[in-house]
Amino acid sequence: MARRRQVYEGKAKILFEGPEPGTLVQYFKDDATAFNNQKKGTITGKGVLNNRISEYLMTRLNEIGVPTHFIRRLNMREQLVREVEIVPLEVVVRNVAAGSLATRLGIQEGTRLPRSIIEYYYKNDQLGDPMVSEEHITCFGWASTQDLDDMVSLALRVNDFLTGLFLGVGITLVDFKLEFGRLWENEDMRIVLADEISPDNCRLWDLKTGEKMDKDRFRKDLGKVEEGYQEVARRLGILPEAGVRDMKGPETVQ
Ligand code: UDP
Repeated sequence: MARRRQVYEGKAKILFEGPEPGTLVQYFKDDATAFNNQKKGTITGKGVLNNRISEYLMTRLNEIGVPTHFIRRLNMREQLVREVEIVPLEVVVRNVAAGSLATRLGIQEGTRLPRSIIEYYYKNDQLGDPMVSEEHITCFGWASTQDLDDMVSLALRVNDFLTGLFLGVGITLVDFKLEFGRLWENEDMRIVLADEISPDNCRLWDLKTGEKMDKDRFRKDLGKVEEGYQEVARRLGILPEAGVRDMKGPETVQ
């Protein structure tokens, strides 16, 4: 196969030019980073699992009418997506106190929030993704008020749906990060869900034991990181049958 042009390389994914104009191929790596790149590592099989988990969740969301950039999975590590103009914001939704919320405000990790909270972070590695308000976002033109309205309503729908979906398999959706993109169709622009939804950007705790099944296992050196991701896939009923170790190479599936 001819070498494809690489469009972008991030910490956990690479984007290549897609087969048709307006499409991209999203390749999932096993690389993991945390604390604004200060901690680096590899989680064997993570890319395969995240590709599969994100495919599953984006497909379920598409089915309930949440627009996403996802088109289809191509092989074990790649998926075809629509090319969008990424809004330079990380939209975090929280249901239970954890991570930076718990640290910054001194709230006991695990405290259920009286209502879901949405936070925005400006995507800028050099600045360490600072938290920003709607005022900053509209003032500096990162998104319009209409874009924000669309992102908030989509984020809340995603939260409601995924909370229920994970609850059904014995997992608490503690918090997660979403990214959105602008999709242009002729003169019209729509805000759609982009990036990925996986244990890399969600906090997922076992409902009964509170055990962490997400990237916090890596961040906090809890061990059994791959196993945590695998358990999420297993509960969702999508663990690759032969196991991820047998499925590292890109093999085209229909
Ligand atoms: N998150 C992410 N990418 C980031 C920062 C956070 O995917 O660059 C996710 C993280 O996995 C968690 C949620 O967003 O599910 C909230 O993260 P938090 O603000 O608590 O920051 P952290 O503790 O990860 O530094």
